[in-house]
Amino acid sequence: MAVKDIMDALKGESLEDLGIQANLAQLVKDIKLVGKELNIVVGLQKPEIQSLIRDRVVKALSGFAEVEKVNVKFTDSPPPTAAQQPQSPMGQPVFTKRSVPGVKNIIVVGSGKGGVGKSTVSANLALSLANLGFKVGLLDADIYGPSIPTLFGIKGQRVEVNEQKKILPIEKFGIKVLSIGLMLPSEDTPVIWRGPMLMKALTQFLFDVEWGELDYLILDLPPGTGDVQLTLAQNVKIDGAVVVTTPQDVALADVRKATSMFKEVDIPIIGVVENMAYFVCPDSGKRYYIFGKGKTVIFATTYGLRVLGSIPIDPEVSEKSDEGEPIVVSAPESEAAKVFTAIAKSIAEEIH
Ligand code: ADP
Repeated sequence: MAVKDIMDALKGESLEDLGIQANLAQLVKDIKLVGKELNIVVGLQKPEIQSLIRDRVVKALSGFAEVEKVNVKFTDSPPPTAAQQPQSPMGQPVFTKRSVPGVKNIIVVGSGKGGVGKSTVSANLALSLANLGFKVGLLDADIYGPSIPTLFGIKGQRVEVNEQKKILPIEKFGIKVLSIGLMLPSEDTPVIWRGPMLMKALTQFLFDVEWGELDYLILDLPPGTGDVQLTLAQNVKIDGAVVVTTPQDVALADVRKATSMFKEVDIPIIGVVENMAYFVCPDSGKRYYIFGKGKTVIFATTYGLRVLGSIPIDPEVSEKSDEGEPIVVSAPESEAAKVFTAIAKSIAEEIH
């Protein structure tokens, strides 16, 4: 095995999904194989994606049994001139953070893991902000598992495109809603987005849409810390992030990763929403902290974050969601709906 084989493997690793129009080999400034240890120097302008690039190098070389250890070092290569600057599919220089015309604030809702209620929180926060009098849009960027159409009872509907070739979001409960689920030929179509296609689809969802004038555009991200989050962070001006978790150790451990990611990509974290925090016994009115009490606050304090609110477990949240009515619409007087309203107020106070 020669260094050339290694370079060939690195050539196969495209970085387009990270917003870099190059493959890994093109970033290599120096490469030396010493015994079974490989030392690579990578030229990279964006220090915040160093760990992702390191992971990509390790992944690309995982097939080489002869390489037992990979050491990746980074160096700042000189900035490209305007003529050399790589272009995104939309013709914009990569890493230029664009605002969505007409949209005042973009807030992303993320979670460390799936199933913690991120989409439920996104939907109810969007509706609560609308109830407070703001103009709101909701973009389901959870392109691998879009659940917003179900939550809003618009499953099966399809979006239309106007004469200017702009996608028209669907209006429901006073907000503008868009989801990949409303654009696929059938509900059962599996979505397999590869890097460049993913970036194009996301850019289209944000920029080729007739959002009109909005105070807030809420973005329901896919769970975890993958390419979608990075692509967005690098290309779109995002005003704040809300992280959703349940008070379970497994969920909180993953929130740590999500929190670090938002920090790395310079997206201010507005706070943490603790979902399924407790259950109120309908007979006695007593609160039961099923997953334990106080864990989220301890976690948040450790990371310098604040808990925006704690949503109870309420069977009506899931029943009504399945029927296409988020709790803020179906039961505005419920405890869960009131907490959502309070969280929306805190968000509006911070981001306006
Ligand atoms: P995620 O987007 O994190 O995958 P979802 O919002 O789809 O999670 O929620 C997962 C499931 O949990 C859904 O069936 C939803 O209705 C239910 N759920 C979410 N929050 C609550 C809650 N506070 N009380 C009861 N059920 C909830």
